[in-house]
Amino acid sequence: MKRGLDRLAVLGQRVFVRVDFNVPLKDGKVRDDTRIRAALPTIDALRRGGARVVLATHLGHPKGGPDPQLSLAPVAARLSELLGAPVALAPDSVGPAAEAVVEGLANGAVALLENTRFYPQEEQNDPAHAARLAKLADLYVNDAFGAAHRAHASTEGIARLLPSAAGLHMAAELSALERALADPVRPFAAIIGGAKASDKIEVLKRLASLADVLLIGGGMGNTFLHARGVNLQASLLEPDLVETARDVDEIAARAHCRVVLPVDGVVAAEASAGAERRTVPVSEIPPGWRILDVGPRTTAAYGEALQGVKTVLWNGPMGVYELAPFAEGTNRLARLLAESGAFVVVGGGDAVAAVQAAGVADKMGHLSTGGGATLEFVEGKILPGVAVLPDA
Ligand code: ADP
Ligand code: MG
Repeated sequence: MKRGLDRLAVLGQRVFVRVDFNVPLKDGKVRDDTRIRAALPTIDALRRGGARVVLATHLGHPKGGPDPQLSLAPVAARLSELLGAPVALAPDSVGPAAEAVVEGLANGAVALLENTRFYPQEEQNDPAHAARLAKLADLYVNDAFGAAHRAHASTEGIARLLPSAAGLHMAAELSALERALADPVRPFAAIIGGAKASDKIEVLKRLASLADVLLIGGGMGNTFLHARGVNLQASLLEPDLVETARDVDEIAARAHCRVVLPVDGVVAAEASAGAERRTVPVSEIPPGWRILDVGPRTTAAYGEALQGVKTVLWNGPMGVYELAPFAEGTNRLARLLAESGAFVVVGGGDAVAAVQAAGVADKMGHLSTGGGATLEFVEGKILPGVAVLPDA
């Protein structure tokens, strides 16, 4: 457990809060404000405590200097709407202009620093740059779980220079992921889908060693079926990863983890909503056709394997869920999990989107929105932005 917000005396203090407002923009507006909403509990708590709140985030990948296209102006506007209070956008993330905005903050007021990545020293975790950021505040809070796998000046360097704590969103992510991975109540099921095994080799290996049962579907499952000699015709798969699939099987066998693969699939000649489709056993895909979803016998087998499980970690959809005709397997699995009574952690942008589309998001124990940080946590890696925070 990391030191929490409640352990900081914030009244009248300048609190530097690293948030993850790396949101998609469209036509000068925030297209999806999920990440902004995730930070509201921390911002509200600090305002109630009378802190002078100094928010900082990166946005996109500026090329070594200021880029008006990646200004945080649209983010400040959306945050102000959500808070129902003004947000002072500082024109810079360090230096006199930023200092002037912070100096002008009353207790309970909020400022947002301009894009931290307008300085290359941010990603270099340059100590002098971290000191310039630290100069803006008395205390440091990290609420940016999605950026915690990067050791940057605003995520790692600054935490060495100020009394620090984890924000509420950060704490929620860590406690849910730890509950699933550190010492899960068993039986523990891991479910992995998505496009490619190559993105998630380390995740697969770690989960095979930890889980009691491992369900593999989606494009990922194809590679495992291929390794077992099934002819998947034109399905997405990675022949180079046959050895990896065997390694995962071996790890699972040693750990007494049962691996469940698809037995049937919804197939079509192409991934389009209008394409003719059939449901067939995985060994009977017509030549030139491909698996785009798991079939009903597969989800029935998943349901049987999930009987009585107490903890579940799910990453990656079971099919091309973006197209309604190939979303049913993922939806069925989402409903199974919603009714399972297990503590279910869903991680990965697409798996979270699929669970939301299936209408069962509120039945899940936790939706992890950390992207790369979530995957690295599941792999068992140390996240530098977390490691640097003091323990409770
Ligand atoms: P997450 O974001 O949950 O980690 P990924 O990004 O790894 O998941 O994978 C999501 C993608 O996998 C989706 O775009 C989906 O269409 C694709 N996908 C899943 N199953 C298949 C399949 N059988 N064939 C092709 N693509 C698939
Ligand atoms: Mg994805």
